[in-house]
Amino acid sequence: MAGSIDAIRNAVLMGAPGEELAALELPEAMTAAFVRKDEQNMFEGLESDTKDPRKSLRVDEVELPPLGPNECLIAVMASAINFNTVWTSIFEPLPTFVFLERYGKESDLGARHDLDYHIVGSDASGVVLRTGPGVTRWRVGDEVTVHCNYVDMEAPEGHNDSMIDPNQRIWGFESNFGGMSEIAMVKANQLMPKPKHMTWEEAACLGLVSSTSYRMLVGRNGADMKQGDVVLIWGATGGLGGFACQYVLNGGGVPVGVVSSREKAGILNAIGVEHVIDRRAEGYEFWNGDEQNPKEQRRFGMKVRELAGEDPDIVFEHPGRQTFATSVFVAKKGGTIVTCASTSGYMHEYDNRYLWMHLKKIIGSHFANYKEAWEANRLAYLGKIHPILSETYPLTEIGEAAYQVHQNMHRGKIGIRVLAPSDGLGVSDPELRERHIDQMRSFRKFSE
Ligand code: NAP
Repeated sequence: MAGSIDAIRNAVLMGAPGEELAALELPEAMTAAFVRKDEQNMFEGLESDTKDPRKSLRVDEVELPPLGPNECLIAVMASAINFNTVWTSIFEPLPTFVFLERYGKESDLGARHDLDYHIVGSDASGVVLRTGPGVTRWRVGDEVTVHCNYVDMEAPEGHNDSMIDPNQRIWGFESNFGGMSEIAMVKANQLMPKPKHMTWEEAACLGLVSSTSYRMLVGRNGADMKQGDVVLIWGATGGLGGFACQYVLNGGGVPVGVVSSREKAGILNAIGVEHVIDRRAEGYEFWNGDEQNPKEQRRFGMKVRELAGEDPDIVFEHPGRQTFATSVFVAKKGGTIVTCASTSGYMHEYDNRYLWMHLKKIIGSHFANYKEAWEANRLAYLGKIHPILSETYPLTEIGEAAYQVHQNMHRGKIGIRVLAPSDGLGVSDPELRERHIDQMRSFRKFSE
């Protein structure tokens, strides 16, 4: 007889041991958030801004995915909105069904992903429900966070850095069965121990953006920040930026955060970022229509200098076309621009004289390998990194949550309660939470 999702939820909420969870029958169906292949052209002809995730993200019952070797099924307590769910929901820069079809052609296991619906979500916190053949490190009942580097490592190329593997994918974006689902399917090498002092929704914010920021700034594959470096951080209270600021502060650097409102500037001050630029209040116009505006780049550079006393050693880039030329211009001689995205457009234009004559470097960065994600998670575990979680929504309101991020109406991260019935659950070590919160307060005046 098929089991019920409520029995699983209750068992997790009661802290049932692994044997009890293992004895529960799995349900045949689960509730998940997905986009539909037959709707992938629904926004054709519209401007990006007006493509509305509330129309494309569906929440309904779907079948449980079949479990393969080295995979686990997770009872998802919470997930978080990432910008890639916005991209999936507006079918830009291309519908993610293209990725699923490609994966489907690769192998029988890949073919499971090529469906007429795509379950979204690249973050999760939850509990291991089942382990497939070959899984040795994780047990049913383990509390976990999930990172989104989806890779088998069969090819030689990725063995120094799994992000280089030719078949590397982002879970829930280039694979199906992502985190916005009562039960998610992951590879065992995506799992990390859930920080015991965090709630489900806090822990669900760590995987994607914290790991990405870690690689960009701290890891050897990124800008390799050192003590005293001035780091200019665009979108400094956004998903990536909120973590980037903390990595810079922890590493003895000097963050200069760029935001677009006074309220966001206040958040930065509260977490210990002294130098803040409100780009809206300052009214920077880096472009005049299709033309760049070097005067404005200079005005912006002067502002950074005025605040930090010098030009940035590192620029943390992701807005892309709108800001990239400015980022190249303002970086210090010999400095680094590290980029992982192009939210405002991926066809960048910049004056290359500022790059070569001033010996600057541009580093491309994409998510993180398992070790980098593990280190980022460990820092959260140690209480040195904490998400700026501004709001949570139930899974049924994922469309609204994605809309908020698409329209840049959010701050920090937006969490999604999947099986968690309310906020604030999942702290398995309250004393550690108290200790960490004190530590965070004294280090950086974090408010709870
Ligand atoms: P987010 O939470 O939306 O934050 C981005 C912030 O950037 C916004 O809050 C906004 O802050 C700022 N911004 C947006 N457009 C801008 C513009 N035209 N000029 C200046 N600032 C602008 O998103 P996120 O999670 O940080 O992700 C940012 C981008 O990185 C997305 O495109 C995402 O897909 C990508 N990403 C890539 C990877 C990877 O592995 N390659 C990983 C994570 C994210 P203000 O309005 O306050 O300035």
